[in-house]
Amino acid sequence: MIIKTRLVKILSFGFASGMCLYPFVLIGKEIEITERLVNHERIHLKQQLETLILPFYLWYFIEFLIRILQYRNFEKAYRNISFEREAYYYESHIEYLNHRKNYAWTRFMGQADPG
Ligand SMILES: [Zn+2]
Repeated sequence: MIIKTRLVKILSFGFASGMCLYPFVLIGKEIEITERLVNHERIHLKQQLETLILPFYLWYFIEFLIRILQYRNFEKAYRNISFEREAYYYESHIEYLNHRKNYAWTRFMGQADPG
């Protein structure tokens, strides 16, 4: 279920266009809803389901801290969280979720492009 809300801007400190809080996809009030954005957030929904939701947020946050140490850059750290790497890598592949393997994000832990 997609909800347009100003909460995205507030919760992400003006950083994100969309946000996934299972089972909801929140999209910023001023953001245009595109197929690509919806696909990106639907990939996160899948990741949240297979990690039983709460551990997703925990791991997301822990990996973000690790990436901050690694890249020393807020944007780079966020883009390189395994969950985000998978979502950004496949967001334009609209058919991706039809054939995605469970825990596919783990393949992105080592590198942004798992090859
Ligand atoms: Zn994302």
